[in-house]
Amino acid sequence: MSHIHYLKAGSFPDRPPIWATADTPQTKKWIASAKLFPKGSAVRIVKTIAAMQRLARQWQQTGTPVGFVPTMGYLHRGHLSLIAKARARVGRKGRIVVSIYVNPTQFGPKEDLAKYPRDLARDKKLCAEAGADVIFIPTTREMYPVGFSTWVVEETLARGMEGASRPAHFRGVATIVAKLFQIVQPNIAVFGAKDFQQSAIIRRMVRDLNFPVKIIVAPTVREADGLAMSSRNKYLSPAQRRQATVLWRAMQKAKSQAAQGRIPAAKMKQELRRLIAREPEARVDYIEFYDPDTLAPARKIRKGTQIALAVFIGKTRLIDNARL
Ligand code: AMP
Repeated sequence: MSHIHYLKAGSFPDRPPIWATADTPQTKKWIASAKLFPKGSAVRIVKTIAAMQRLARQWQQTGTPVGFVPTMGYLHRGHLSLIAKARARVGRKGRIVVSIYVNPTQFGPKEDLAKYPRDLARDKKLCAEAGADVIFIPTTREMYPVGFSTWVVEETLARGMEGASRPAHFRGVATIVAKLFQIVQPNIAVFGAKDFQQSAIIRRMVRDLNFPVKIIVAPTVREADGLAMSSRNKYLSPAQRRQATVLWRAMQKAKSQAAQGRIPAAKMKQELRRLIAREPEARVDYIEFYDPDTLAPARKIRKGTQIALAVFIGKTRLIDNARL
């Protein structure tokens, strides 16, 4: 029995894709790069590791460059910008694989694994419109067979921020990405700057363990009011959605102050905490200033320092980051 199903792609660029709601620079770039792939191409759905590895081997034998975009699904324009970036890198003759897998090992016991949003039918349509060739949708039974006991653990960059707030999160991320790289065997893989620490850890893993993959990090795609796109934004009530812009406002405040000279990080953190506390349902998990290369905390902030923050809006935990 074949595990490969076909889905007809949308008719873009005759008709705008559903996700192209705002005329952002990212959308424009995507539209420009859309010329790189033929319209009306088909997306294959691959559900088993064996079928995916077979395809990967075929591509290797024919010298076809492969671009890879790992996701947890419930796709938005942020994800689609990664697909566009991958297409721009591999060209129209290359192949692009998008994986959709809500990886249980990167969720803590009290986190939102069970209710993480899923909409596979919509994801398939979006992938087709964005020009992906294959959607890889593995099962947990196959990804984590009974007795699974081998993990990839990055031990330095993963210590602070998300790693401190979410123990075992990056162990789950590094392990699943390593496994996906072995299955898809891509030449390039595209990650979002939205998860800045994650992309730094993946780069380190690829360097340390000699994966023959080039890691590309694409800029964060935002809503018109600055909120970073995220599958988790779906959890927000209209009132919470309005409050959620406080992450963006906090980063902008830090940026404008850093532009005026060096400021102690502790003082800046205090100011931002005060700003965020004005929103009734906002609660700061962390605010960090750090060096973008080493992720080492910065005592003083200045132009070029990186800020990252995690804020609960009600029960929804949002993260964002920016270069000041
Ligand atoms: P996720 O499905 O949330 O695991 O994200 C899959 C990939 O999409 C990761 O590399 C994320 O960093 C990236 N991503 C998520 N949100 C955005 C965004 N707003 N802009 C750019 N990339 C994003």
